[in-house]
Amino acid sequence: MSDYDLIVVGAGSAGAVIAARVTEDANQRVLLIEAGPDYPHEASLPDDLKDGNHNSVFHHDWGFRYQPTSGNKGNVPLPRGKVTGGSSAVNTAIALRGQPGDYDGWAAMGLPEWSWEKCLPAFKRLETDQDIQSDLHGADGPITIHRPDDLVPFQRAFLDACQTMNYPECPDHNDPSTTGYGPHPMNKRGRLRISTALAYLVPARKRRNLVIRPHTHVVRVVVAGGKAAGLEVESNGVRETITGSRIVLSAGSIQTPPILIRSGIGPRDVLERLGISLAREAPVGARLFDHPATLIGLVPKPNIADRDQPIIQTTLRYTAKGSSDENDMQLEPISFVQRGRADNLLVGLAPVVERTQGHGRLVFESADPYAQPVIQSDFLNDPWDEERMMEGIDIALRMCETPEIKAVSESIVWPREDVIEDREKLRDWARRASGSGYHPCSTAPMGGEDDEGAVVDQYGRVYGVDGLFVADASIMPAVPRANINIPTIMIGERFGEWFREGTI
Ligand SMILES: Cc1cc2nc3c(=O)[nH]c(=O)nc-3n(C[C@H](O)[C@H](O)[C@H](O)COP(=O)(O)OP(=O)(O)OC[C@H]3O[C@@H](n4cnc5c(N)ncnc54)[C@H](O)[C@@H]3O)c2cc1C
Repeated sequence: MSDYDLIVVGAGSAGAVIAARVTEDANQRVLLIEAGPDYPHEASLPDDLKDGNHNSVFHHDWGFRYQPTSGNKGNVPLPRGKVTGGSSAVNTAIALRGQPGDYDGWAAMGLPEWSWEKCLPAFKRLETDQDIQSDLHGADGPITIHRPDDLVPFQRAFLDACQTMNYPECPDHNDPSTTGYGPHPMNKRGRLRISTALAYLVPARKRRNLVIRPHTHVVRVVVAGGKAAGLEVESNGVRETITGSRIVLSAGSIQTPPILIRSGIGPRDVLERLGISLAREAPVGARLFDHPATLIGLVPKPNIADRDQPIIQTTLRYTAKGSSDENDMQLEPISFVQRGRADNLLVGLAPVVERTQGHGRLVFESADPYAQPVIQSDFLNDPWDEERMMEGIDIALRMCETPEIKAVSESIVWPREDVIEDREKLRDWARRASGSGYHPCSTAPMGGEDDEGAVVDQYGRVYGVDGLFVADASIMPAVPRANINIPTIMIGERFGEWFREGTI
């Protein structure tokens, strides 16, 4: 007899949703484990989690560092939320879904459950779209979505500049038939960021069949005889083992893989090197996708940039020259960027490669349950990614010359003028300056049984280990053309339904 019917590890974008949806069935006892703190209702939230105008990158963060490119092995912060709500509780609250082709592409990789047609009901179920009522949108889901109409001057200037450059206007970036410029759909209510902790856990926590355990760090899954037999956890320095009929890892794309490794699930040579006995050979951490971004920085005219403003409100989605993948690029206007002193602010234009071809990896150097993996993103290692980034930089630089951007800015300071004028220097700058869009994924990907890159099947079942599942951004077999919070919540919705209804 297990302690619980289901144990969910990590209360983030996927985990909180799974726990909330499964406990709709009063007969299923669910334990939700979270390493960070838990704030049970809106009134108890600290200011950094309430403030959807700014990312929270210090107070509820894991403190990870990463290496953006092979040319830049610097130790750069990679924020990840450590709190109920996970990264959904600290992020920018951009609420995009991606292109139907992203999900149909997953289906074509031997994962028929993930076609656009099958994902769309979950995208609708998770949202209340306050602006658009149509067959494409939900009207009574937990996450409120709204497109800002109170644009700050730099965001307004950006949309006007897009119009001057003849891009089409896009009233709904979540309508698959659209491209062009317009306000971001955002999961905010006023300034309040609507995390999965607020949207899903607040209403679910009164249920007697849901137990939430914050401040509890998962060390490993105990695997015995090809089955997940328990979960070793540590809180306040005390270790214990908890049992569950099924265990689902939703600790995120950076933390789920080391839990698998510590459980003996991973590449044989890595496990041997770390002295961990092998439970199942699997290519954990072999792939790491993300959205590489660079930033053209401009000195703003007086009274344009202000650190109290929302950091992003709008975007341009476009298709790169020669690309067969629609909307494979975004250009994001950034309302303020700190340059040195706190009062020295820039504004920026950030080209982002959305349909990334190249990937990085996670490297495991320690079996210590509190060690982070080495995160090697290897951005722009793929020539097609680099070519599209260079085109994105060219578009951003041309936009800087439009009357609309000139009206709100003085001059470009990133990159320097001599770099802009020399193609090779600019290419070199792009390689060195590319950084994470904060969307790491695919580190324990889904795939068919004959897919050597797969760690889990299309229902998140870890190959070769009964009763163990992965459900978070790690399982995406490729990165969608969207910021990945809403796609990860969609994944949570699907697993929540499957566990509740006994599909898996
Ligand atoms: C600063 C920032 C800005 C972003 N902006 C956006 C945006 O605007 N729009 C967008 O779509 N996406 C955005 N993202 C990305 C998006 O939020 C994440 O990709 C998404 O939340 C990932 O969901 P997840 O469920 O995979 O992981 P997470 O939401 O990170 O959840 C993992 C949870 O597991 C817990 N955990 C980890 N390890 C353990 C352990 N050993 N034991 C117990 N618990 C553990 C963590 O504390 C966390 O709560 C942003 C991310 C960040 C960090």
